[in-house]
Amino acid sequence: LKNPRWQLNDLFPGIKSPQYQAAKMSVVRQLESLETFVAKHDIQAGKALLVDKKTLKELDSLLGHFNRLMADLGDLQTYLDLRTAANSYDEEAQAESSSTDALDARLTLLDKQWTAWLGRFGEQDLLGSPRTKQHAYLLERRRTEARHQMGQEAETLEVHLHASARQGWAKLHSTLLSQTTIYKKIKGAAKHATVTDLENLQLDPSENVREAAYEAERELVTQHLAPYTAALNGVKGYANAVAKSRGWTSVLEASLFTEGISQSCLDALHQACRESFPAFRRFLTLKAKFLGKKKLAWYDRFLPVTVGKQKTYTWTEAQQIILEHFRNYSPTLATFAQRTFDEGWHDVSPRKGKTGGAFCSGPITKTKESRLLHNFSGQLGDVRVLAHELGHAYHAECLFRANRTPLQTVYPMTLAETASTFCELVVSQEHLKTLVDKDKLTHLGQTIFEVSQNILDIHSRFLFEQSVCEARLERELSSKELRQFMLNAQKQTFGNSFSVFHDLMWVTRDHYYGSDYYNFPYTFGQLFSLGLYKEYERNPQSFPKRFDTLLASTSMADAVTLAREFGIDIEDVDFWRQSLSVPLGQVEMFEELAKKYRPKS
Ligand SMILES: [Zn+2]
Repeated sequence: LKNPRWQLNDLFPGIKSPQYQAAKMSVVRQLESLETFVAKHDIQAGKALLVDKKTLKELDSLLGHFNRLMADLGDLQTYLDLRTAANSYDEEAQAESSSTDALDARLTLLDKQWTAWLGRFGEQDLLGSPRTKQHAYLLERRRTEARHQMGQEAETLEVHLHASARQGWAKLHSTLLSQTTIYKKIKGAAKHATVTDLENLQLDPSENVREAAYEAERELVTQHLAPYTAALNGVKGYANAVAKSRGWTSVLEASLFTEGISQSCLDALHQACRESFPAFRRFLTLKAKFLGKKKLAWYDRFLPVTVGKQKTYTWTEAQQIILEHFRNYSPTLATFAQRTFDEGWHDVSPRKGKTGGAFCSGPITKTKESRLLHNFSGQLGDVRVLAHELGHAYHAECLFRANRTPLQTVYPMTLAETASTFCELVVSQEHLKTLVDKDKLTHLGQTIFEVSQNILDIHSRFLFEQSVCEARLERELSSKELRQFMLNAQKQTFGNSFSVFHDLMWVTRDHYYGSDYYNFPYTFGQLFSLGLYKEYERNPQSFPKRFDTLLASTSMADAVTLAREFGIDIEDVDFWRQSLSVPLGQVEMFEELAKKYRPKS
């Protein structure tokens, strides 16, 4: 029996189908009419507006325009993305994608002008119609954004400079890194290995292979240290300059605004994290013992702790586990999951040409559905991934049920993982109870490790990025200094739990070049869900309904406000301590079980 693949027919029967062609024609026409509207009504930056009935009508009508376009263009793009994800050889979908990308660029430009125009409104002016009231939070955010624009000419220049300066550096970095190879004999015959090859070899059970791959990776990176250093200096120098010109006190302040959280919230989160470092370090040291070592080296991090042969699951069994645990949490969630299985939302097994990993597609507005891609191989981890992706789909479902508009479904990265991490926890915590001790140990080892990545590794990345951004305000940094910053950051978080660190991690991660502070939102997301899980344990009866409301409101207010409505204060370090008590409890459980299985050393 073959595992199912998703069906896309109710979205579009094909690119050449009359349905697709008509939908695309409608997007083109809507774009043209919006462009005319924006030009005619002078929707752009300027002096403060005297807001009258006419202006309010324009605002109301722009909301309508943007919502419809986002939905219609979004559906075309989702359809094409799903086709290429399922089959990278789908040339028809690829060619069509570049055509819809051009439409998307036009929409982005209009959106920027609209934001600049909103900056000309007063605070009270935005509440003129029922539709503007519904979008009040989003409009207010755009007003703030507009106040942080540099003026039309400078912003337009920035768009062009961004492409050739900032993105140019990022492109140089990623192209150079992905195309550089090193000729080595590590496992099997000698070959030209890329960084990705070498990182994969660091998952090998043999320590000699892992160590050799780690050394080779460093050798490969150091071949081009000068351009990587120039690129990072270029990118962060650019970020500092733009943040300053837009009136932010720092790149971090701009990122906190994007993510919709406050500095005091971040401080509280980080304080609780620092308090938890010793427990996670204890876990890593214990993990080292299982690998027959005193301490872990950087290249040992990802090895699982396994005792004996692991239980595996069929797709049908995975569905049953999910449904059972979801049902205990809330019948609504279980019924929803059942529907996704019955109606062909999942593409299950790996195959050639299919994209790796797992994801849940952006919601499809036309059908109020999602699609979920997996590379299911029967491991317990795959069952957890299924729960995770269903969480994303359920989040979209809550937004649909509340009749949110497309603009109201754009939420920050900090809140994007709330439902997914929570659903994963519901399954993982309950399923743990059903496992025999040796499987429990493996399962705990994996879940604790994943959380520890979000606490320790992500924190080290945050510290590194913060020191680079701050030091770069003064002058350019040498590669020696960047390596020292990385090493300091790793030592501050991992402490003495590692014997070997990796001071070149700033070269092997694209994030530092492509964006700013692509780190703390992960820690936030993980711990926010854990804190909500604690809340669920306290009030299992009333929780699910309140949680649905929260999920339906993720673009209606900032995280601090949303949490407050839940009776939670995320600017208080105690909330984050509560969150951390879940994985810290697991560390203790792991330590207990380890006594039984730990090899004598
Ligand atoms: Zn996710």
